[in-house]
Amino acid sequence: MTIDYLALAQPGVQGLKPYEPGKPIETLERELGIRDSIKLASNENPLGPSPRALEALRAGLDKIALYPDGAGHALKSAIAERIGCDPACVTLGSGSSEILDLTARAYLGPGLEAVYSEHAFAVYPLVAQAAGAECKVAPANAADDVQPYGHHPDKLLARMSARTRVVFIANPNNPTGTWLNEAALRALIASIPETAVVVVDEAYCEFVEAPDYPDTTRWLEDFPNLIVTRTFSKIHGLAGLRIGYGVSGPEIADVLNRVRQPFNTGSLAQIAALAALRDGTHIRLSRENNTLGLAQLAAGFKAQGLPYLPSVGNFICVDVGRTAAAVYRRMLELGVIVRPIANYGFPNCLRISVGTPAQNDRALAALQQALLA
Ligand SMILES: *Cc1c(COP(=O)(O)O)cnc(C)c1O
Repeated sequence: MTIDYLALAQPGVQGLKPYEPGKPIETLERELGIRDSIKLASNENPLGPSPRALEALRAGLDKIALYPDGAGHALKSAIAERIGCDPACVTLGSGSSEILDLTARAYLGPGLEAVYSEHAFAVYPLVAQAAGAECKVAPANAADDVQPYGHHPDKLLARMSARTRVVFIANPNNPTGTWLNEAALRALIASIPETAVVVVDEAYCEFVEAPDYPDTTRWLEDFPNLIVTRTFSKIHGLAGLRIGYGVSGPEIADVLNRVRQPFNTGSLAQIAALAALRDGTHIRLSRENNTLGLAQLAAGFKAQGLPYLPSVGNFICVDVGRTAAAVYRRMLELGVIVRPIANYGFPNCLRISVGTPAQNDRALAALQQALLA
């Protein structure tokens, strides 16, 4: 008799659908036998990592025979100093996705609920279901809202119950690029019962230029149930190293520290992140490239008569006016990898990460050509 190993898995795990990542360049080129492709599919930094991070990595290579500092002392201290909190409030993760997972594993389980918005980042249901919890999805803003398809605070609140233990808020959200301003987000968090942990996912915070975009790390003392997550994968250009962090009150940080693996972040990741954090020039250049690139892509979509979602992140969603899957495949043949987002409830849209000016031009040309087919 053959055994059904899926049926043996935990109920929450059985219901999981694997996360679909952006297609790697190597995979595309192997599959199609093409060269010189570009990937604008996973919101990576088109300028690459900070030269100072690369230098630190080279100097740190000989350390890899030894286990890393599991407490991440140097990096946590630098993050804490920047934020103005105690290092005991910082939790390092293998990407900020791991902080989301640690939070779910620590606070969720069967009979408990996670709340998040429709069109929110795909990792929230993954970690909540894997922990055995139920997901309560709140309706998003209407299409004609100033933040189309963005999080709707009152609808999020309406989804909460006594069983809610974790609320995920992406600010800005991926893939919609929408965000909540200081007043709206603060009022929302203040309305959430303190028995629910509130995760504000700020993977793209460094790109946002709006003056009323909140720095939620300043609210940690006001909200003991708050966890702010950030990453070195996006503006810092270190996605391949897997390093991110959460900042919270020391009590929640202590809980996350209990569930994490003792050596969850590698020594090279810690070394590079520390150098990247200190490279203000690279961060500024990356932000400037992004602001220009967003405008370039938006202008290109407009010229092609394609509606798009205004975004403050390093990506932008364009509505191609038909099922986007075929357009996506045609763009792949032209060596441009973007991201179809039917899984986010947008079958007619593609998400395009901001590249260099030349990459943005190439993506716009490929899009135009793909639409002719
Ligand atoms: C990319 C992303 C993350 C984090 O990715 P890591 O590489 O795991 O740090 C978190 N949240 C959102 C919304 C993202 O888009």
